[in-house]
Amino acid sequence: MTDTDVIVVGGGATGVGTARDLAMRGLDVTLFERGGLGSGTTGRSHGLLHSGARYATADPEGAAHCIQENRILRDIAGAAIEASSGLFVQLPDDDPDHFETRLSACRDLGIPATELSASEARERVPDLAEDVQRAFEVPDGVVYPSRLVAANAESARRHGATIRTETPIEDVRVDGGQVVGVEADGEFVAADHVVNAAGAWAGEVAALAGLDIEMAPTKGVMVAVDGPTVAPVINRCRPPADGDIAVPHEEGVVLGTTSTPVEAPDAPPNDDGDESAEAVEAMLQEGAAMLPAVAEADIDRVYWGVRPLYGGGEGRGRDASRGFQVFEGADDGRPGMTTVTGGKLTTYRLMAEAVADAVCGRLGIDEPCRTAEEPLPAGDPDALDELVAEFCTDFPADEDVVRA
Ligand SMILES: Cc1cc2nc3c(=O)[nH]c(=O)nc-3n(C[C@H](O)[C@H](O)[C@H](O)COP(=O)(O)OP(=O)(O)OC[C@H]3O[C@@H](n4cnc5c(N)ncnc54)[C@H](O)[C@@H]3O)c2cc1C
Repeated sequence: MTDTDVIVVGGGATGVGTARDLAMRGLDVTLFERGGLGSGTTGRSHGLLHSGARYATADPEGAAHCIQENRILRDIAGAAIEASSGLFVQLPDDDPDHFETRLSACRDLGIPATELSASEARERVPDLAEDVQRAFEVPDGVVYPSRLVAANAESARRHGATIRTETPIEDVRVDGGQVVGVEADGEFVAADHVVNAAGAWAGEVAALAGLDIEMAPTKGVMVAVDGPTVAPVINRCRPPADGDIAVPHEEGVVLGTTSTPVEAPDAPPNDDGDESAEAVEAMLQEGAAMLPAVAEADIDRVYWGVRPLYGGGEGRGRDASRGFQVFEGADDGRPGMTTVTGGKLTTYRLMAEAVADAVCGRLGIDEPCRTAEEPLPAGDPDALDELVAEFCTDFPADEDVVRA
């Protein structure tokens, strides 16, 4: 006799998305998050709803996932997203061939991309640098991570799930080689299956079950400044590098980001000493190259997050895969646990669907995924922000927008 059908460990976008999906398929789900929802990487991300254009040349599969999920979120995610657009701008130092290659890669992948002259681009964004040579426009957007996790959690709850915040998993119990539940809050909770959606901490949670899943956490710093106000997301059109994205919020922009491999996801903010100050300066300089008003702008906040990248594949840092991986415990000799790593905030729903498919396969449940069709409870921004106040405690990515 179990206490719940499925335990989900981790209340970031991937975990709440998985809880929602499984609950919608009729399973009894209990989610455990050690802090507030989104307090891991999700609420500390850049908040770019990717069109896929950023990954179109280096990772076409990831780019295809992004445009698919971008379209779905525009339909279902209400006030958790801002369906603006995005410009890829070419500056004098940027290789014109790269512009052509990225533009045609977008078109090959079905990502709508419209080329703009320098003057057309400046008409769209008057604050844009004078020396922008040309641009193209894609359906990038803005995602408000705390609103997204709160909406997913509320939907999961309406379908019967239990969401337990501020409750870390202390241990995973294994009996006869099978994961049978978790220890949390001094109690044992038994389940038919455990999903490890602990993001950059997935290796630590897997280790509690005696599994070895190597993570490659990489840290990124973001700087939010007041003004300039720009409608679209601004991306520098060059191979991905530090400081080449500016995400617009109501009263400013979020500049980022860096990509520095770290030993552990809980590395303190200033573990790299002066480098943090250097990273902030670099973000401001790179941002000002695209939007000169950034140089005079007041800093509203500086924050950082750690990417939950899988360490067992090829590449590190910016070269590590931004795709996602689903590890079914049985493949590693530990039935009863499924672990998910990698991915993007933009693709959280697709990741959750893949995990839920795997879990349902294990449990013999034959119910289709409905998360792409059923809208999230996110139509009313005030009601949504009340849910953020209930579920979330730490969300620097969108604390300026959310009225929690
Ligand atoms: C700097 C940076 C910028 C980014 N920008 C973007 C972007 O603009 N667009 C985009 O699409 N993606 C972006 N990403 C990627 C995206 O943010 C992540 O891939 C995504 O948010 C990860 O979500 P997750 O649910 O897998 O992990 P998390 O959000 O980290 O969730 C895992 C949760 O598990 C919890 N946890 C850990 N251990 C335990 C335990 N023992 N018990 C209970 N809970 C536990 C943690 O507290 C955490 O909340 C960015 C990432 C970084 C680092």
